[in-house]
Amino acid sequence: MKDIRSLSLAEITEALVALGEPKFRAKQIHEWLWQKSVRGFDEMTNLSKPLREKLNAQFSFFLVEEFVVQKSKDGTVKIAMALHDKRVVEGVMIPDDERSTACVSSQVGCSLSCSFCATGFLKRERNLEASEIYDQIYLLNQHAKAHNGRGLTNIVYMGMGEPLLNYDNVMQSIRYITSPEGLNMAARRVTVSTSGIERGIRRMADEGVKFNLALSLHAPTNDKRETIMDINKSNKLEDVIDALNYFYEKTGNKITFEYILFDGFNDSIEDADNLIKLYKQVPAFINLIEYNNVEGVTLKKAKAEKRDAFVAHLRKHNIEVAVRRSRGKDIDAACGQLANKH
Ligand code: SAH
Ligand code: SF4
Repeated sequence: MKDIRSLSLAEITEALVALGEPKFRAKQIHEWLWQKSVRGFDEMTNLSKPLREKLNAQFSFFLVEEFVVQKSKDGTVKIAMALHDKRVVEGVMIPDDERSTACVSSQVGCSLSCSFCATGFLKRERNLEASEIYDQIYLLNQHAKAHNGRGLTNIVYMGMGEPLLNYDNVMQSIRYITSPEGLNMAARRVTVSTSGIERGIRRMADEGVKFNLALSLHAPTNDKRETIMDINKSNKLEDVIDALNYFYEKTGNKITFEYILFDGFNDSIEDADNLIKLYKQVPAFINLIEYNNVEGVTLKKAKAEKRDAFVAHLRKHNIEVAVRRSRGKDIDAACGQLANKH
């Protein structure tokens, strides 16, 4: 059976007209799906029972269902979710004083195998549908509400997978989240993180998107970056930087550089100087990220003194930099620890 949520409004309209229903019914159904997040036709209370039965006979809901919930000491919640084909993805809800952030997956596994990332050790099984990304947000929102009574304030595409290698579905999910026909969240509260797919970055720029973009940089030169991120072999830093400038021109949004500090690999003052050179080429902020050690990876997190010297050096050069502490480590919910242990 076809998943009702894989249909556009025009396709739903066509199906409803074929059932002898007026066109406005399609709009009602679309609202139930994407504004009110219903998970079955029986919840669509303004449809007649016979119509709901007809729809039930013709369409299904490929729902994402939560099956393991882990809570960290710091309030972070990680959920493992089953997809309709029994595959599993993970999502995380990270609360702090004034925000609750959902971290969502865009693929089952990842094809890119960055050497430091737990998700990279899984093979890419498939892309997630827009509805499957939407469902993660729906489920994480329930946890945010239970935690602070308010629900999610921010969404980051920093879970499993490379969002720009599932371009269409990721963009569609963001439309469902940010449009008035959907959840109507502010696009500036959404961030997509990429390992640096030049073509995808340009495509987003051309679409004039309103959300934020983060680049997983992690090393400031091609030579170094190539040793930990294969994607750098086909998407060189200078080309990625050009694409990021294009993104900035088209959207007015500064780029976030994510930079994990690894012990003895990218944490020297010379590395900081190379990072400053890149920073000067595109309007950006820098997030320095604490590495969460991953089993079987020889790279380790940088020592505190090295990190402090690195930060001080950047600040001396008036670089906008924030140091991100890790959250949810005790439950393997931190960045790069999502690996479907279940
Ligand atoms: N594929 C996309 C989005 C998912 S990864 C990307 O790579 O950007 C989200 C972020 O977590 C990336 O910046 C990634 O490099 C980082 N990350 C991966 N493994 C990590 C680890 N073990 N500790 C800290 N951050 C990690
Ligand atoms: Fe994939 Fe991102 Fe992990 Fe690299 S860091 S393996 S691109 S999820």
